[in-house]
Amino acid sequence: MPYDHRKTAPRTLALALALAGCCAALAGCGASQASEDSTASGKGGTPTPPPAVDATPTAPGAPDASTTTPTAPTASTTAVPSSPSGAQGSRSLAGRTVVVDPGHNPGNFKHPREINAKVDIGTARKECDTTGTSTNGTAAQAAYTEAAFTLDVSHRVRDLLTARGAKVVFTHDANRPWGPCIDERAAIGNAARADAVVSVHADGSAVGNRGFHVILPARVSAGAADTGPIVGPSRELGEAVADRFARATGTKPANYLGGGTGLDVRKDLGGLNLSTVPKVFVECGNMRDPKDAALLTSAAWRQKAAQGIADGIATYLNG
Ligand code: ZN
Repeated sequence: MPYDHRKTAPRTLALALALAGCCAALAGCGASQASEDSTASGKGGTPTPPPAVDATPTAPGAPDASTTTPTAPTASTTAVPSSPSGAQGSRSLAGRTVVVDPGHNPGNFKHPREINAKVDIGTARKECDTTGTSTNGTAAQAAYTEAAFTLDVSHRVRDLLTARGAKVVFTHDANRPWGPCIDERAAIGNAARADAVVSVHADGSAVGNRGFHVILPARVSAGAADTGPIVGPSRELGEAVADRFARATGTKPANYLGGGTGLDVRKDLGGLNLSTVPKVFVECGNMRDPKDAALLTSAAWRQKAAQGIADGIATYLNG
């Protein structure tokens, strides 16, 4: 959902994609959208069981496993940061609070009425949330939903950040039937007085549209929305995350928006509009593109994605 599908997506296409869930396809779900504006995605969504794709919660062959387990003091090597992506990762984040917002909720598919209910985002009224997108399933492999993807990546980000001493707060952990709504997602970050908030998503755009991007809040002031104080710091956070994500994953910025910068600025996302603390959305890739989907469904790649997000947050916080 990263890009504003409403400008580009034919309505018929949107309807066709609605069952698939996401955001974006047309719309780009993204999180953004997805969570926020994709009206199509929430409707008629057939409950899709969380996919079975490579859902191993831990990093495959994770070379960093030892560093994320504080209780494994095996003598020799555990104290050496094994992150290949930068020195920032080894600096302490003690005293810092990071809110991680896993886009969507696996249960949203079963609660269309609730997630389609409108909430006030200051500049407009929008759907509470959406179902999110998914990969295109095949006969051999079930579709992998964006909601499952975001939870998995978020868990990995949490492990990496807590290992560095940060306090990590989730907006949800699939421990509720649906939601939270986009306004509540923002409120959780605000209440935590977070030093940084990252909302994790994957897009649902056209085949051939590839790559990641980070969505930054535009300057808006209307109703409860006033992003003036967070536009600057959110851009710093977003640029750090985009840079580190590219380095950690080896993937390129989106080729379908942002002019190759990997950055997009939006004023229609409630999760950003209502935030009073630095916040960005990360669209890790396009679930509807087979090549991107091959990455997104790989646990090893998701660990790299999480590393990039965590490194970006650490870079921002350590300045
Ligand atoms: Zn999304």
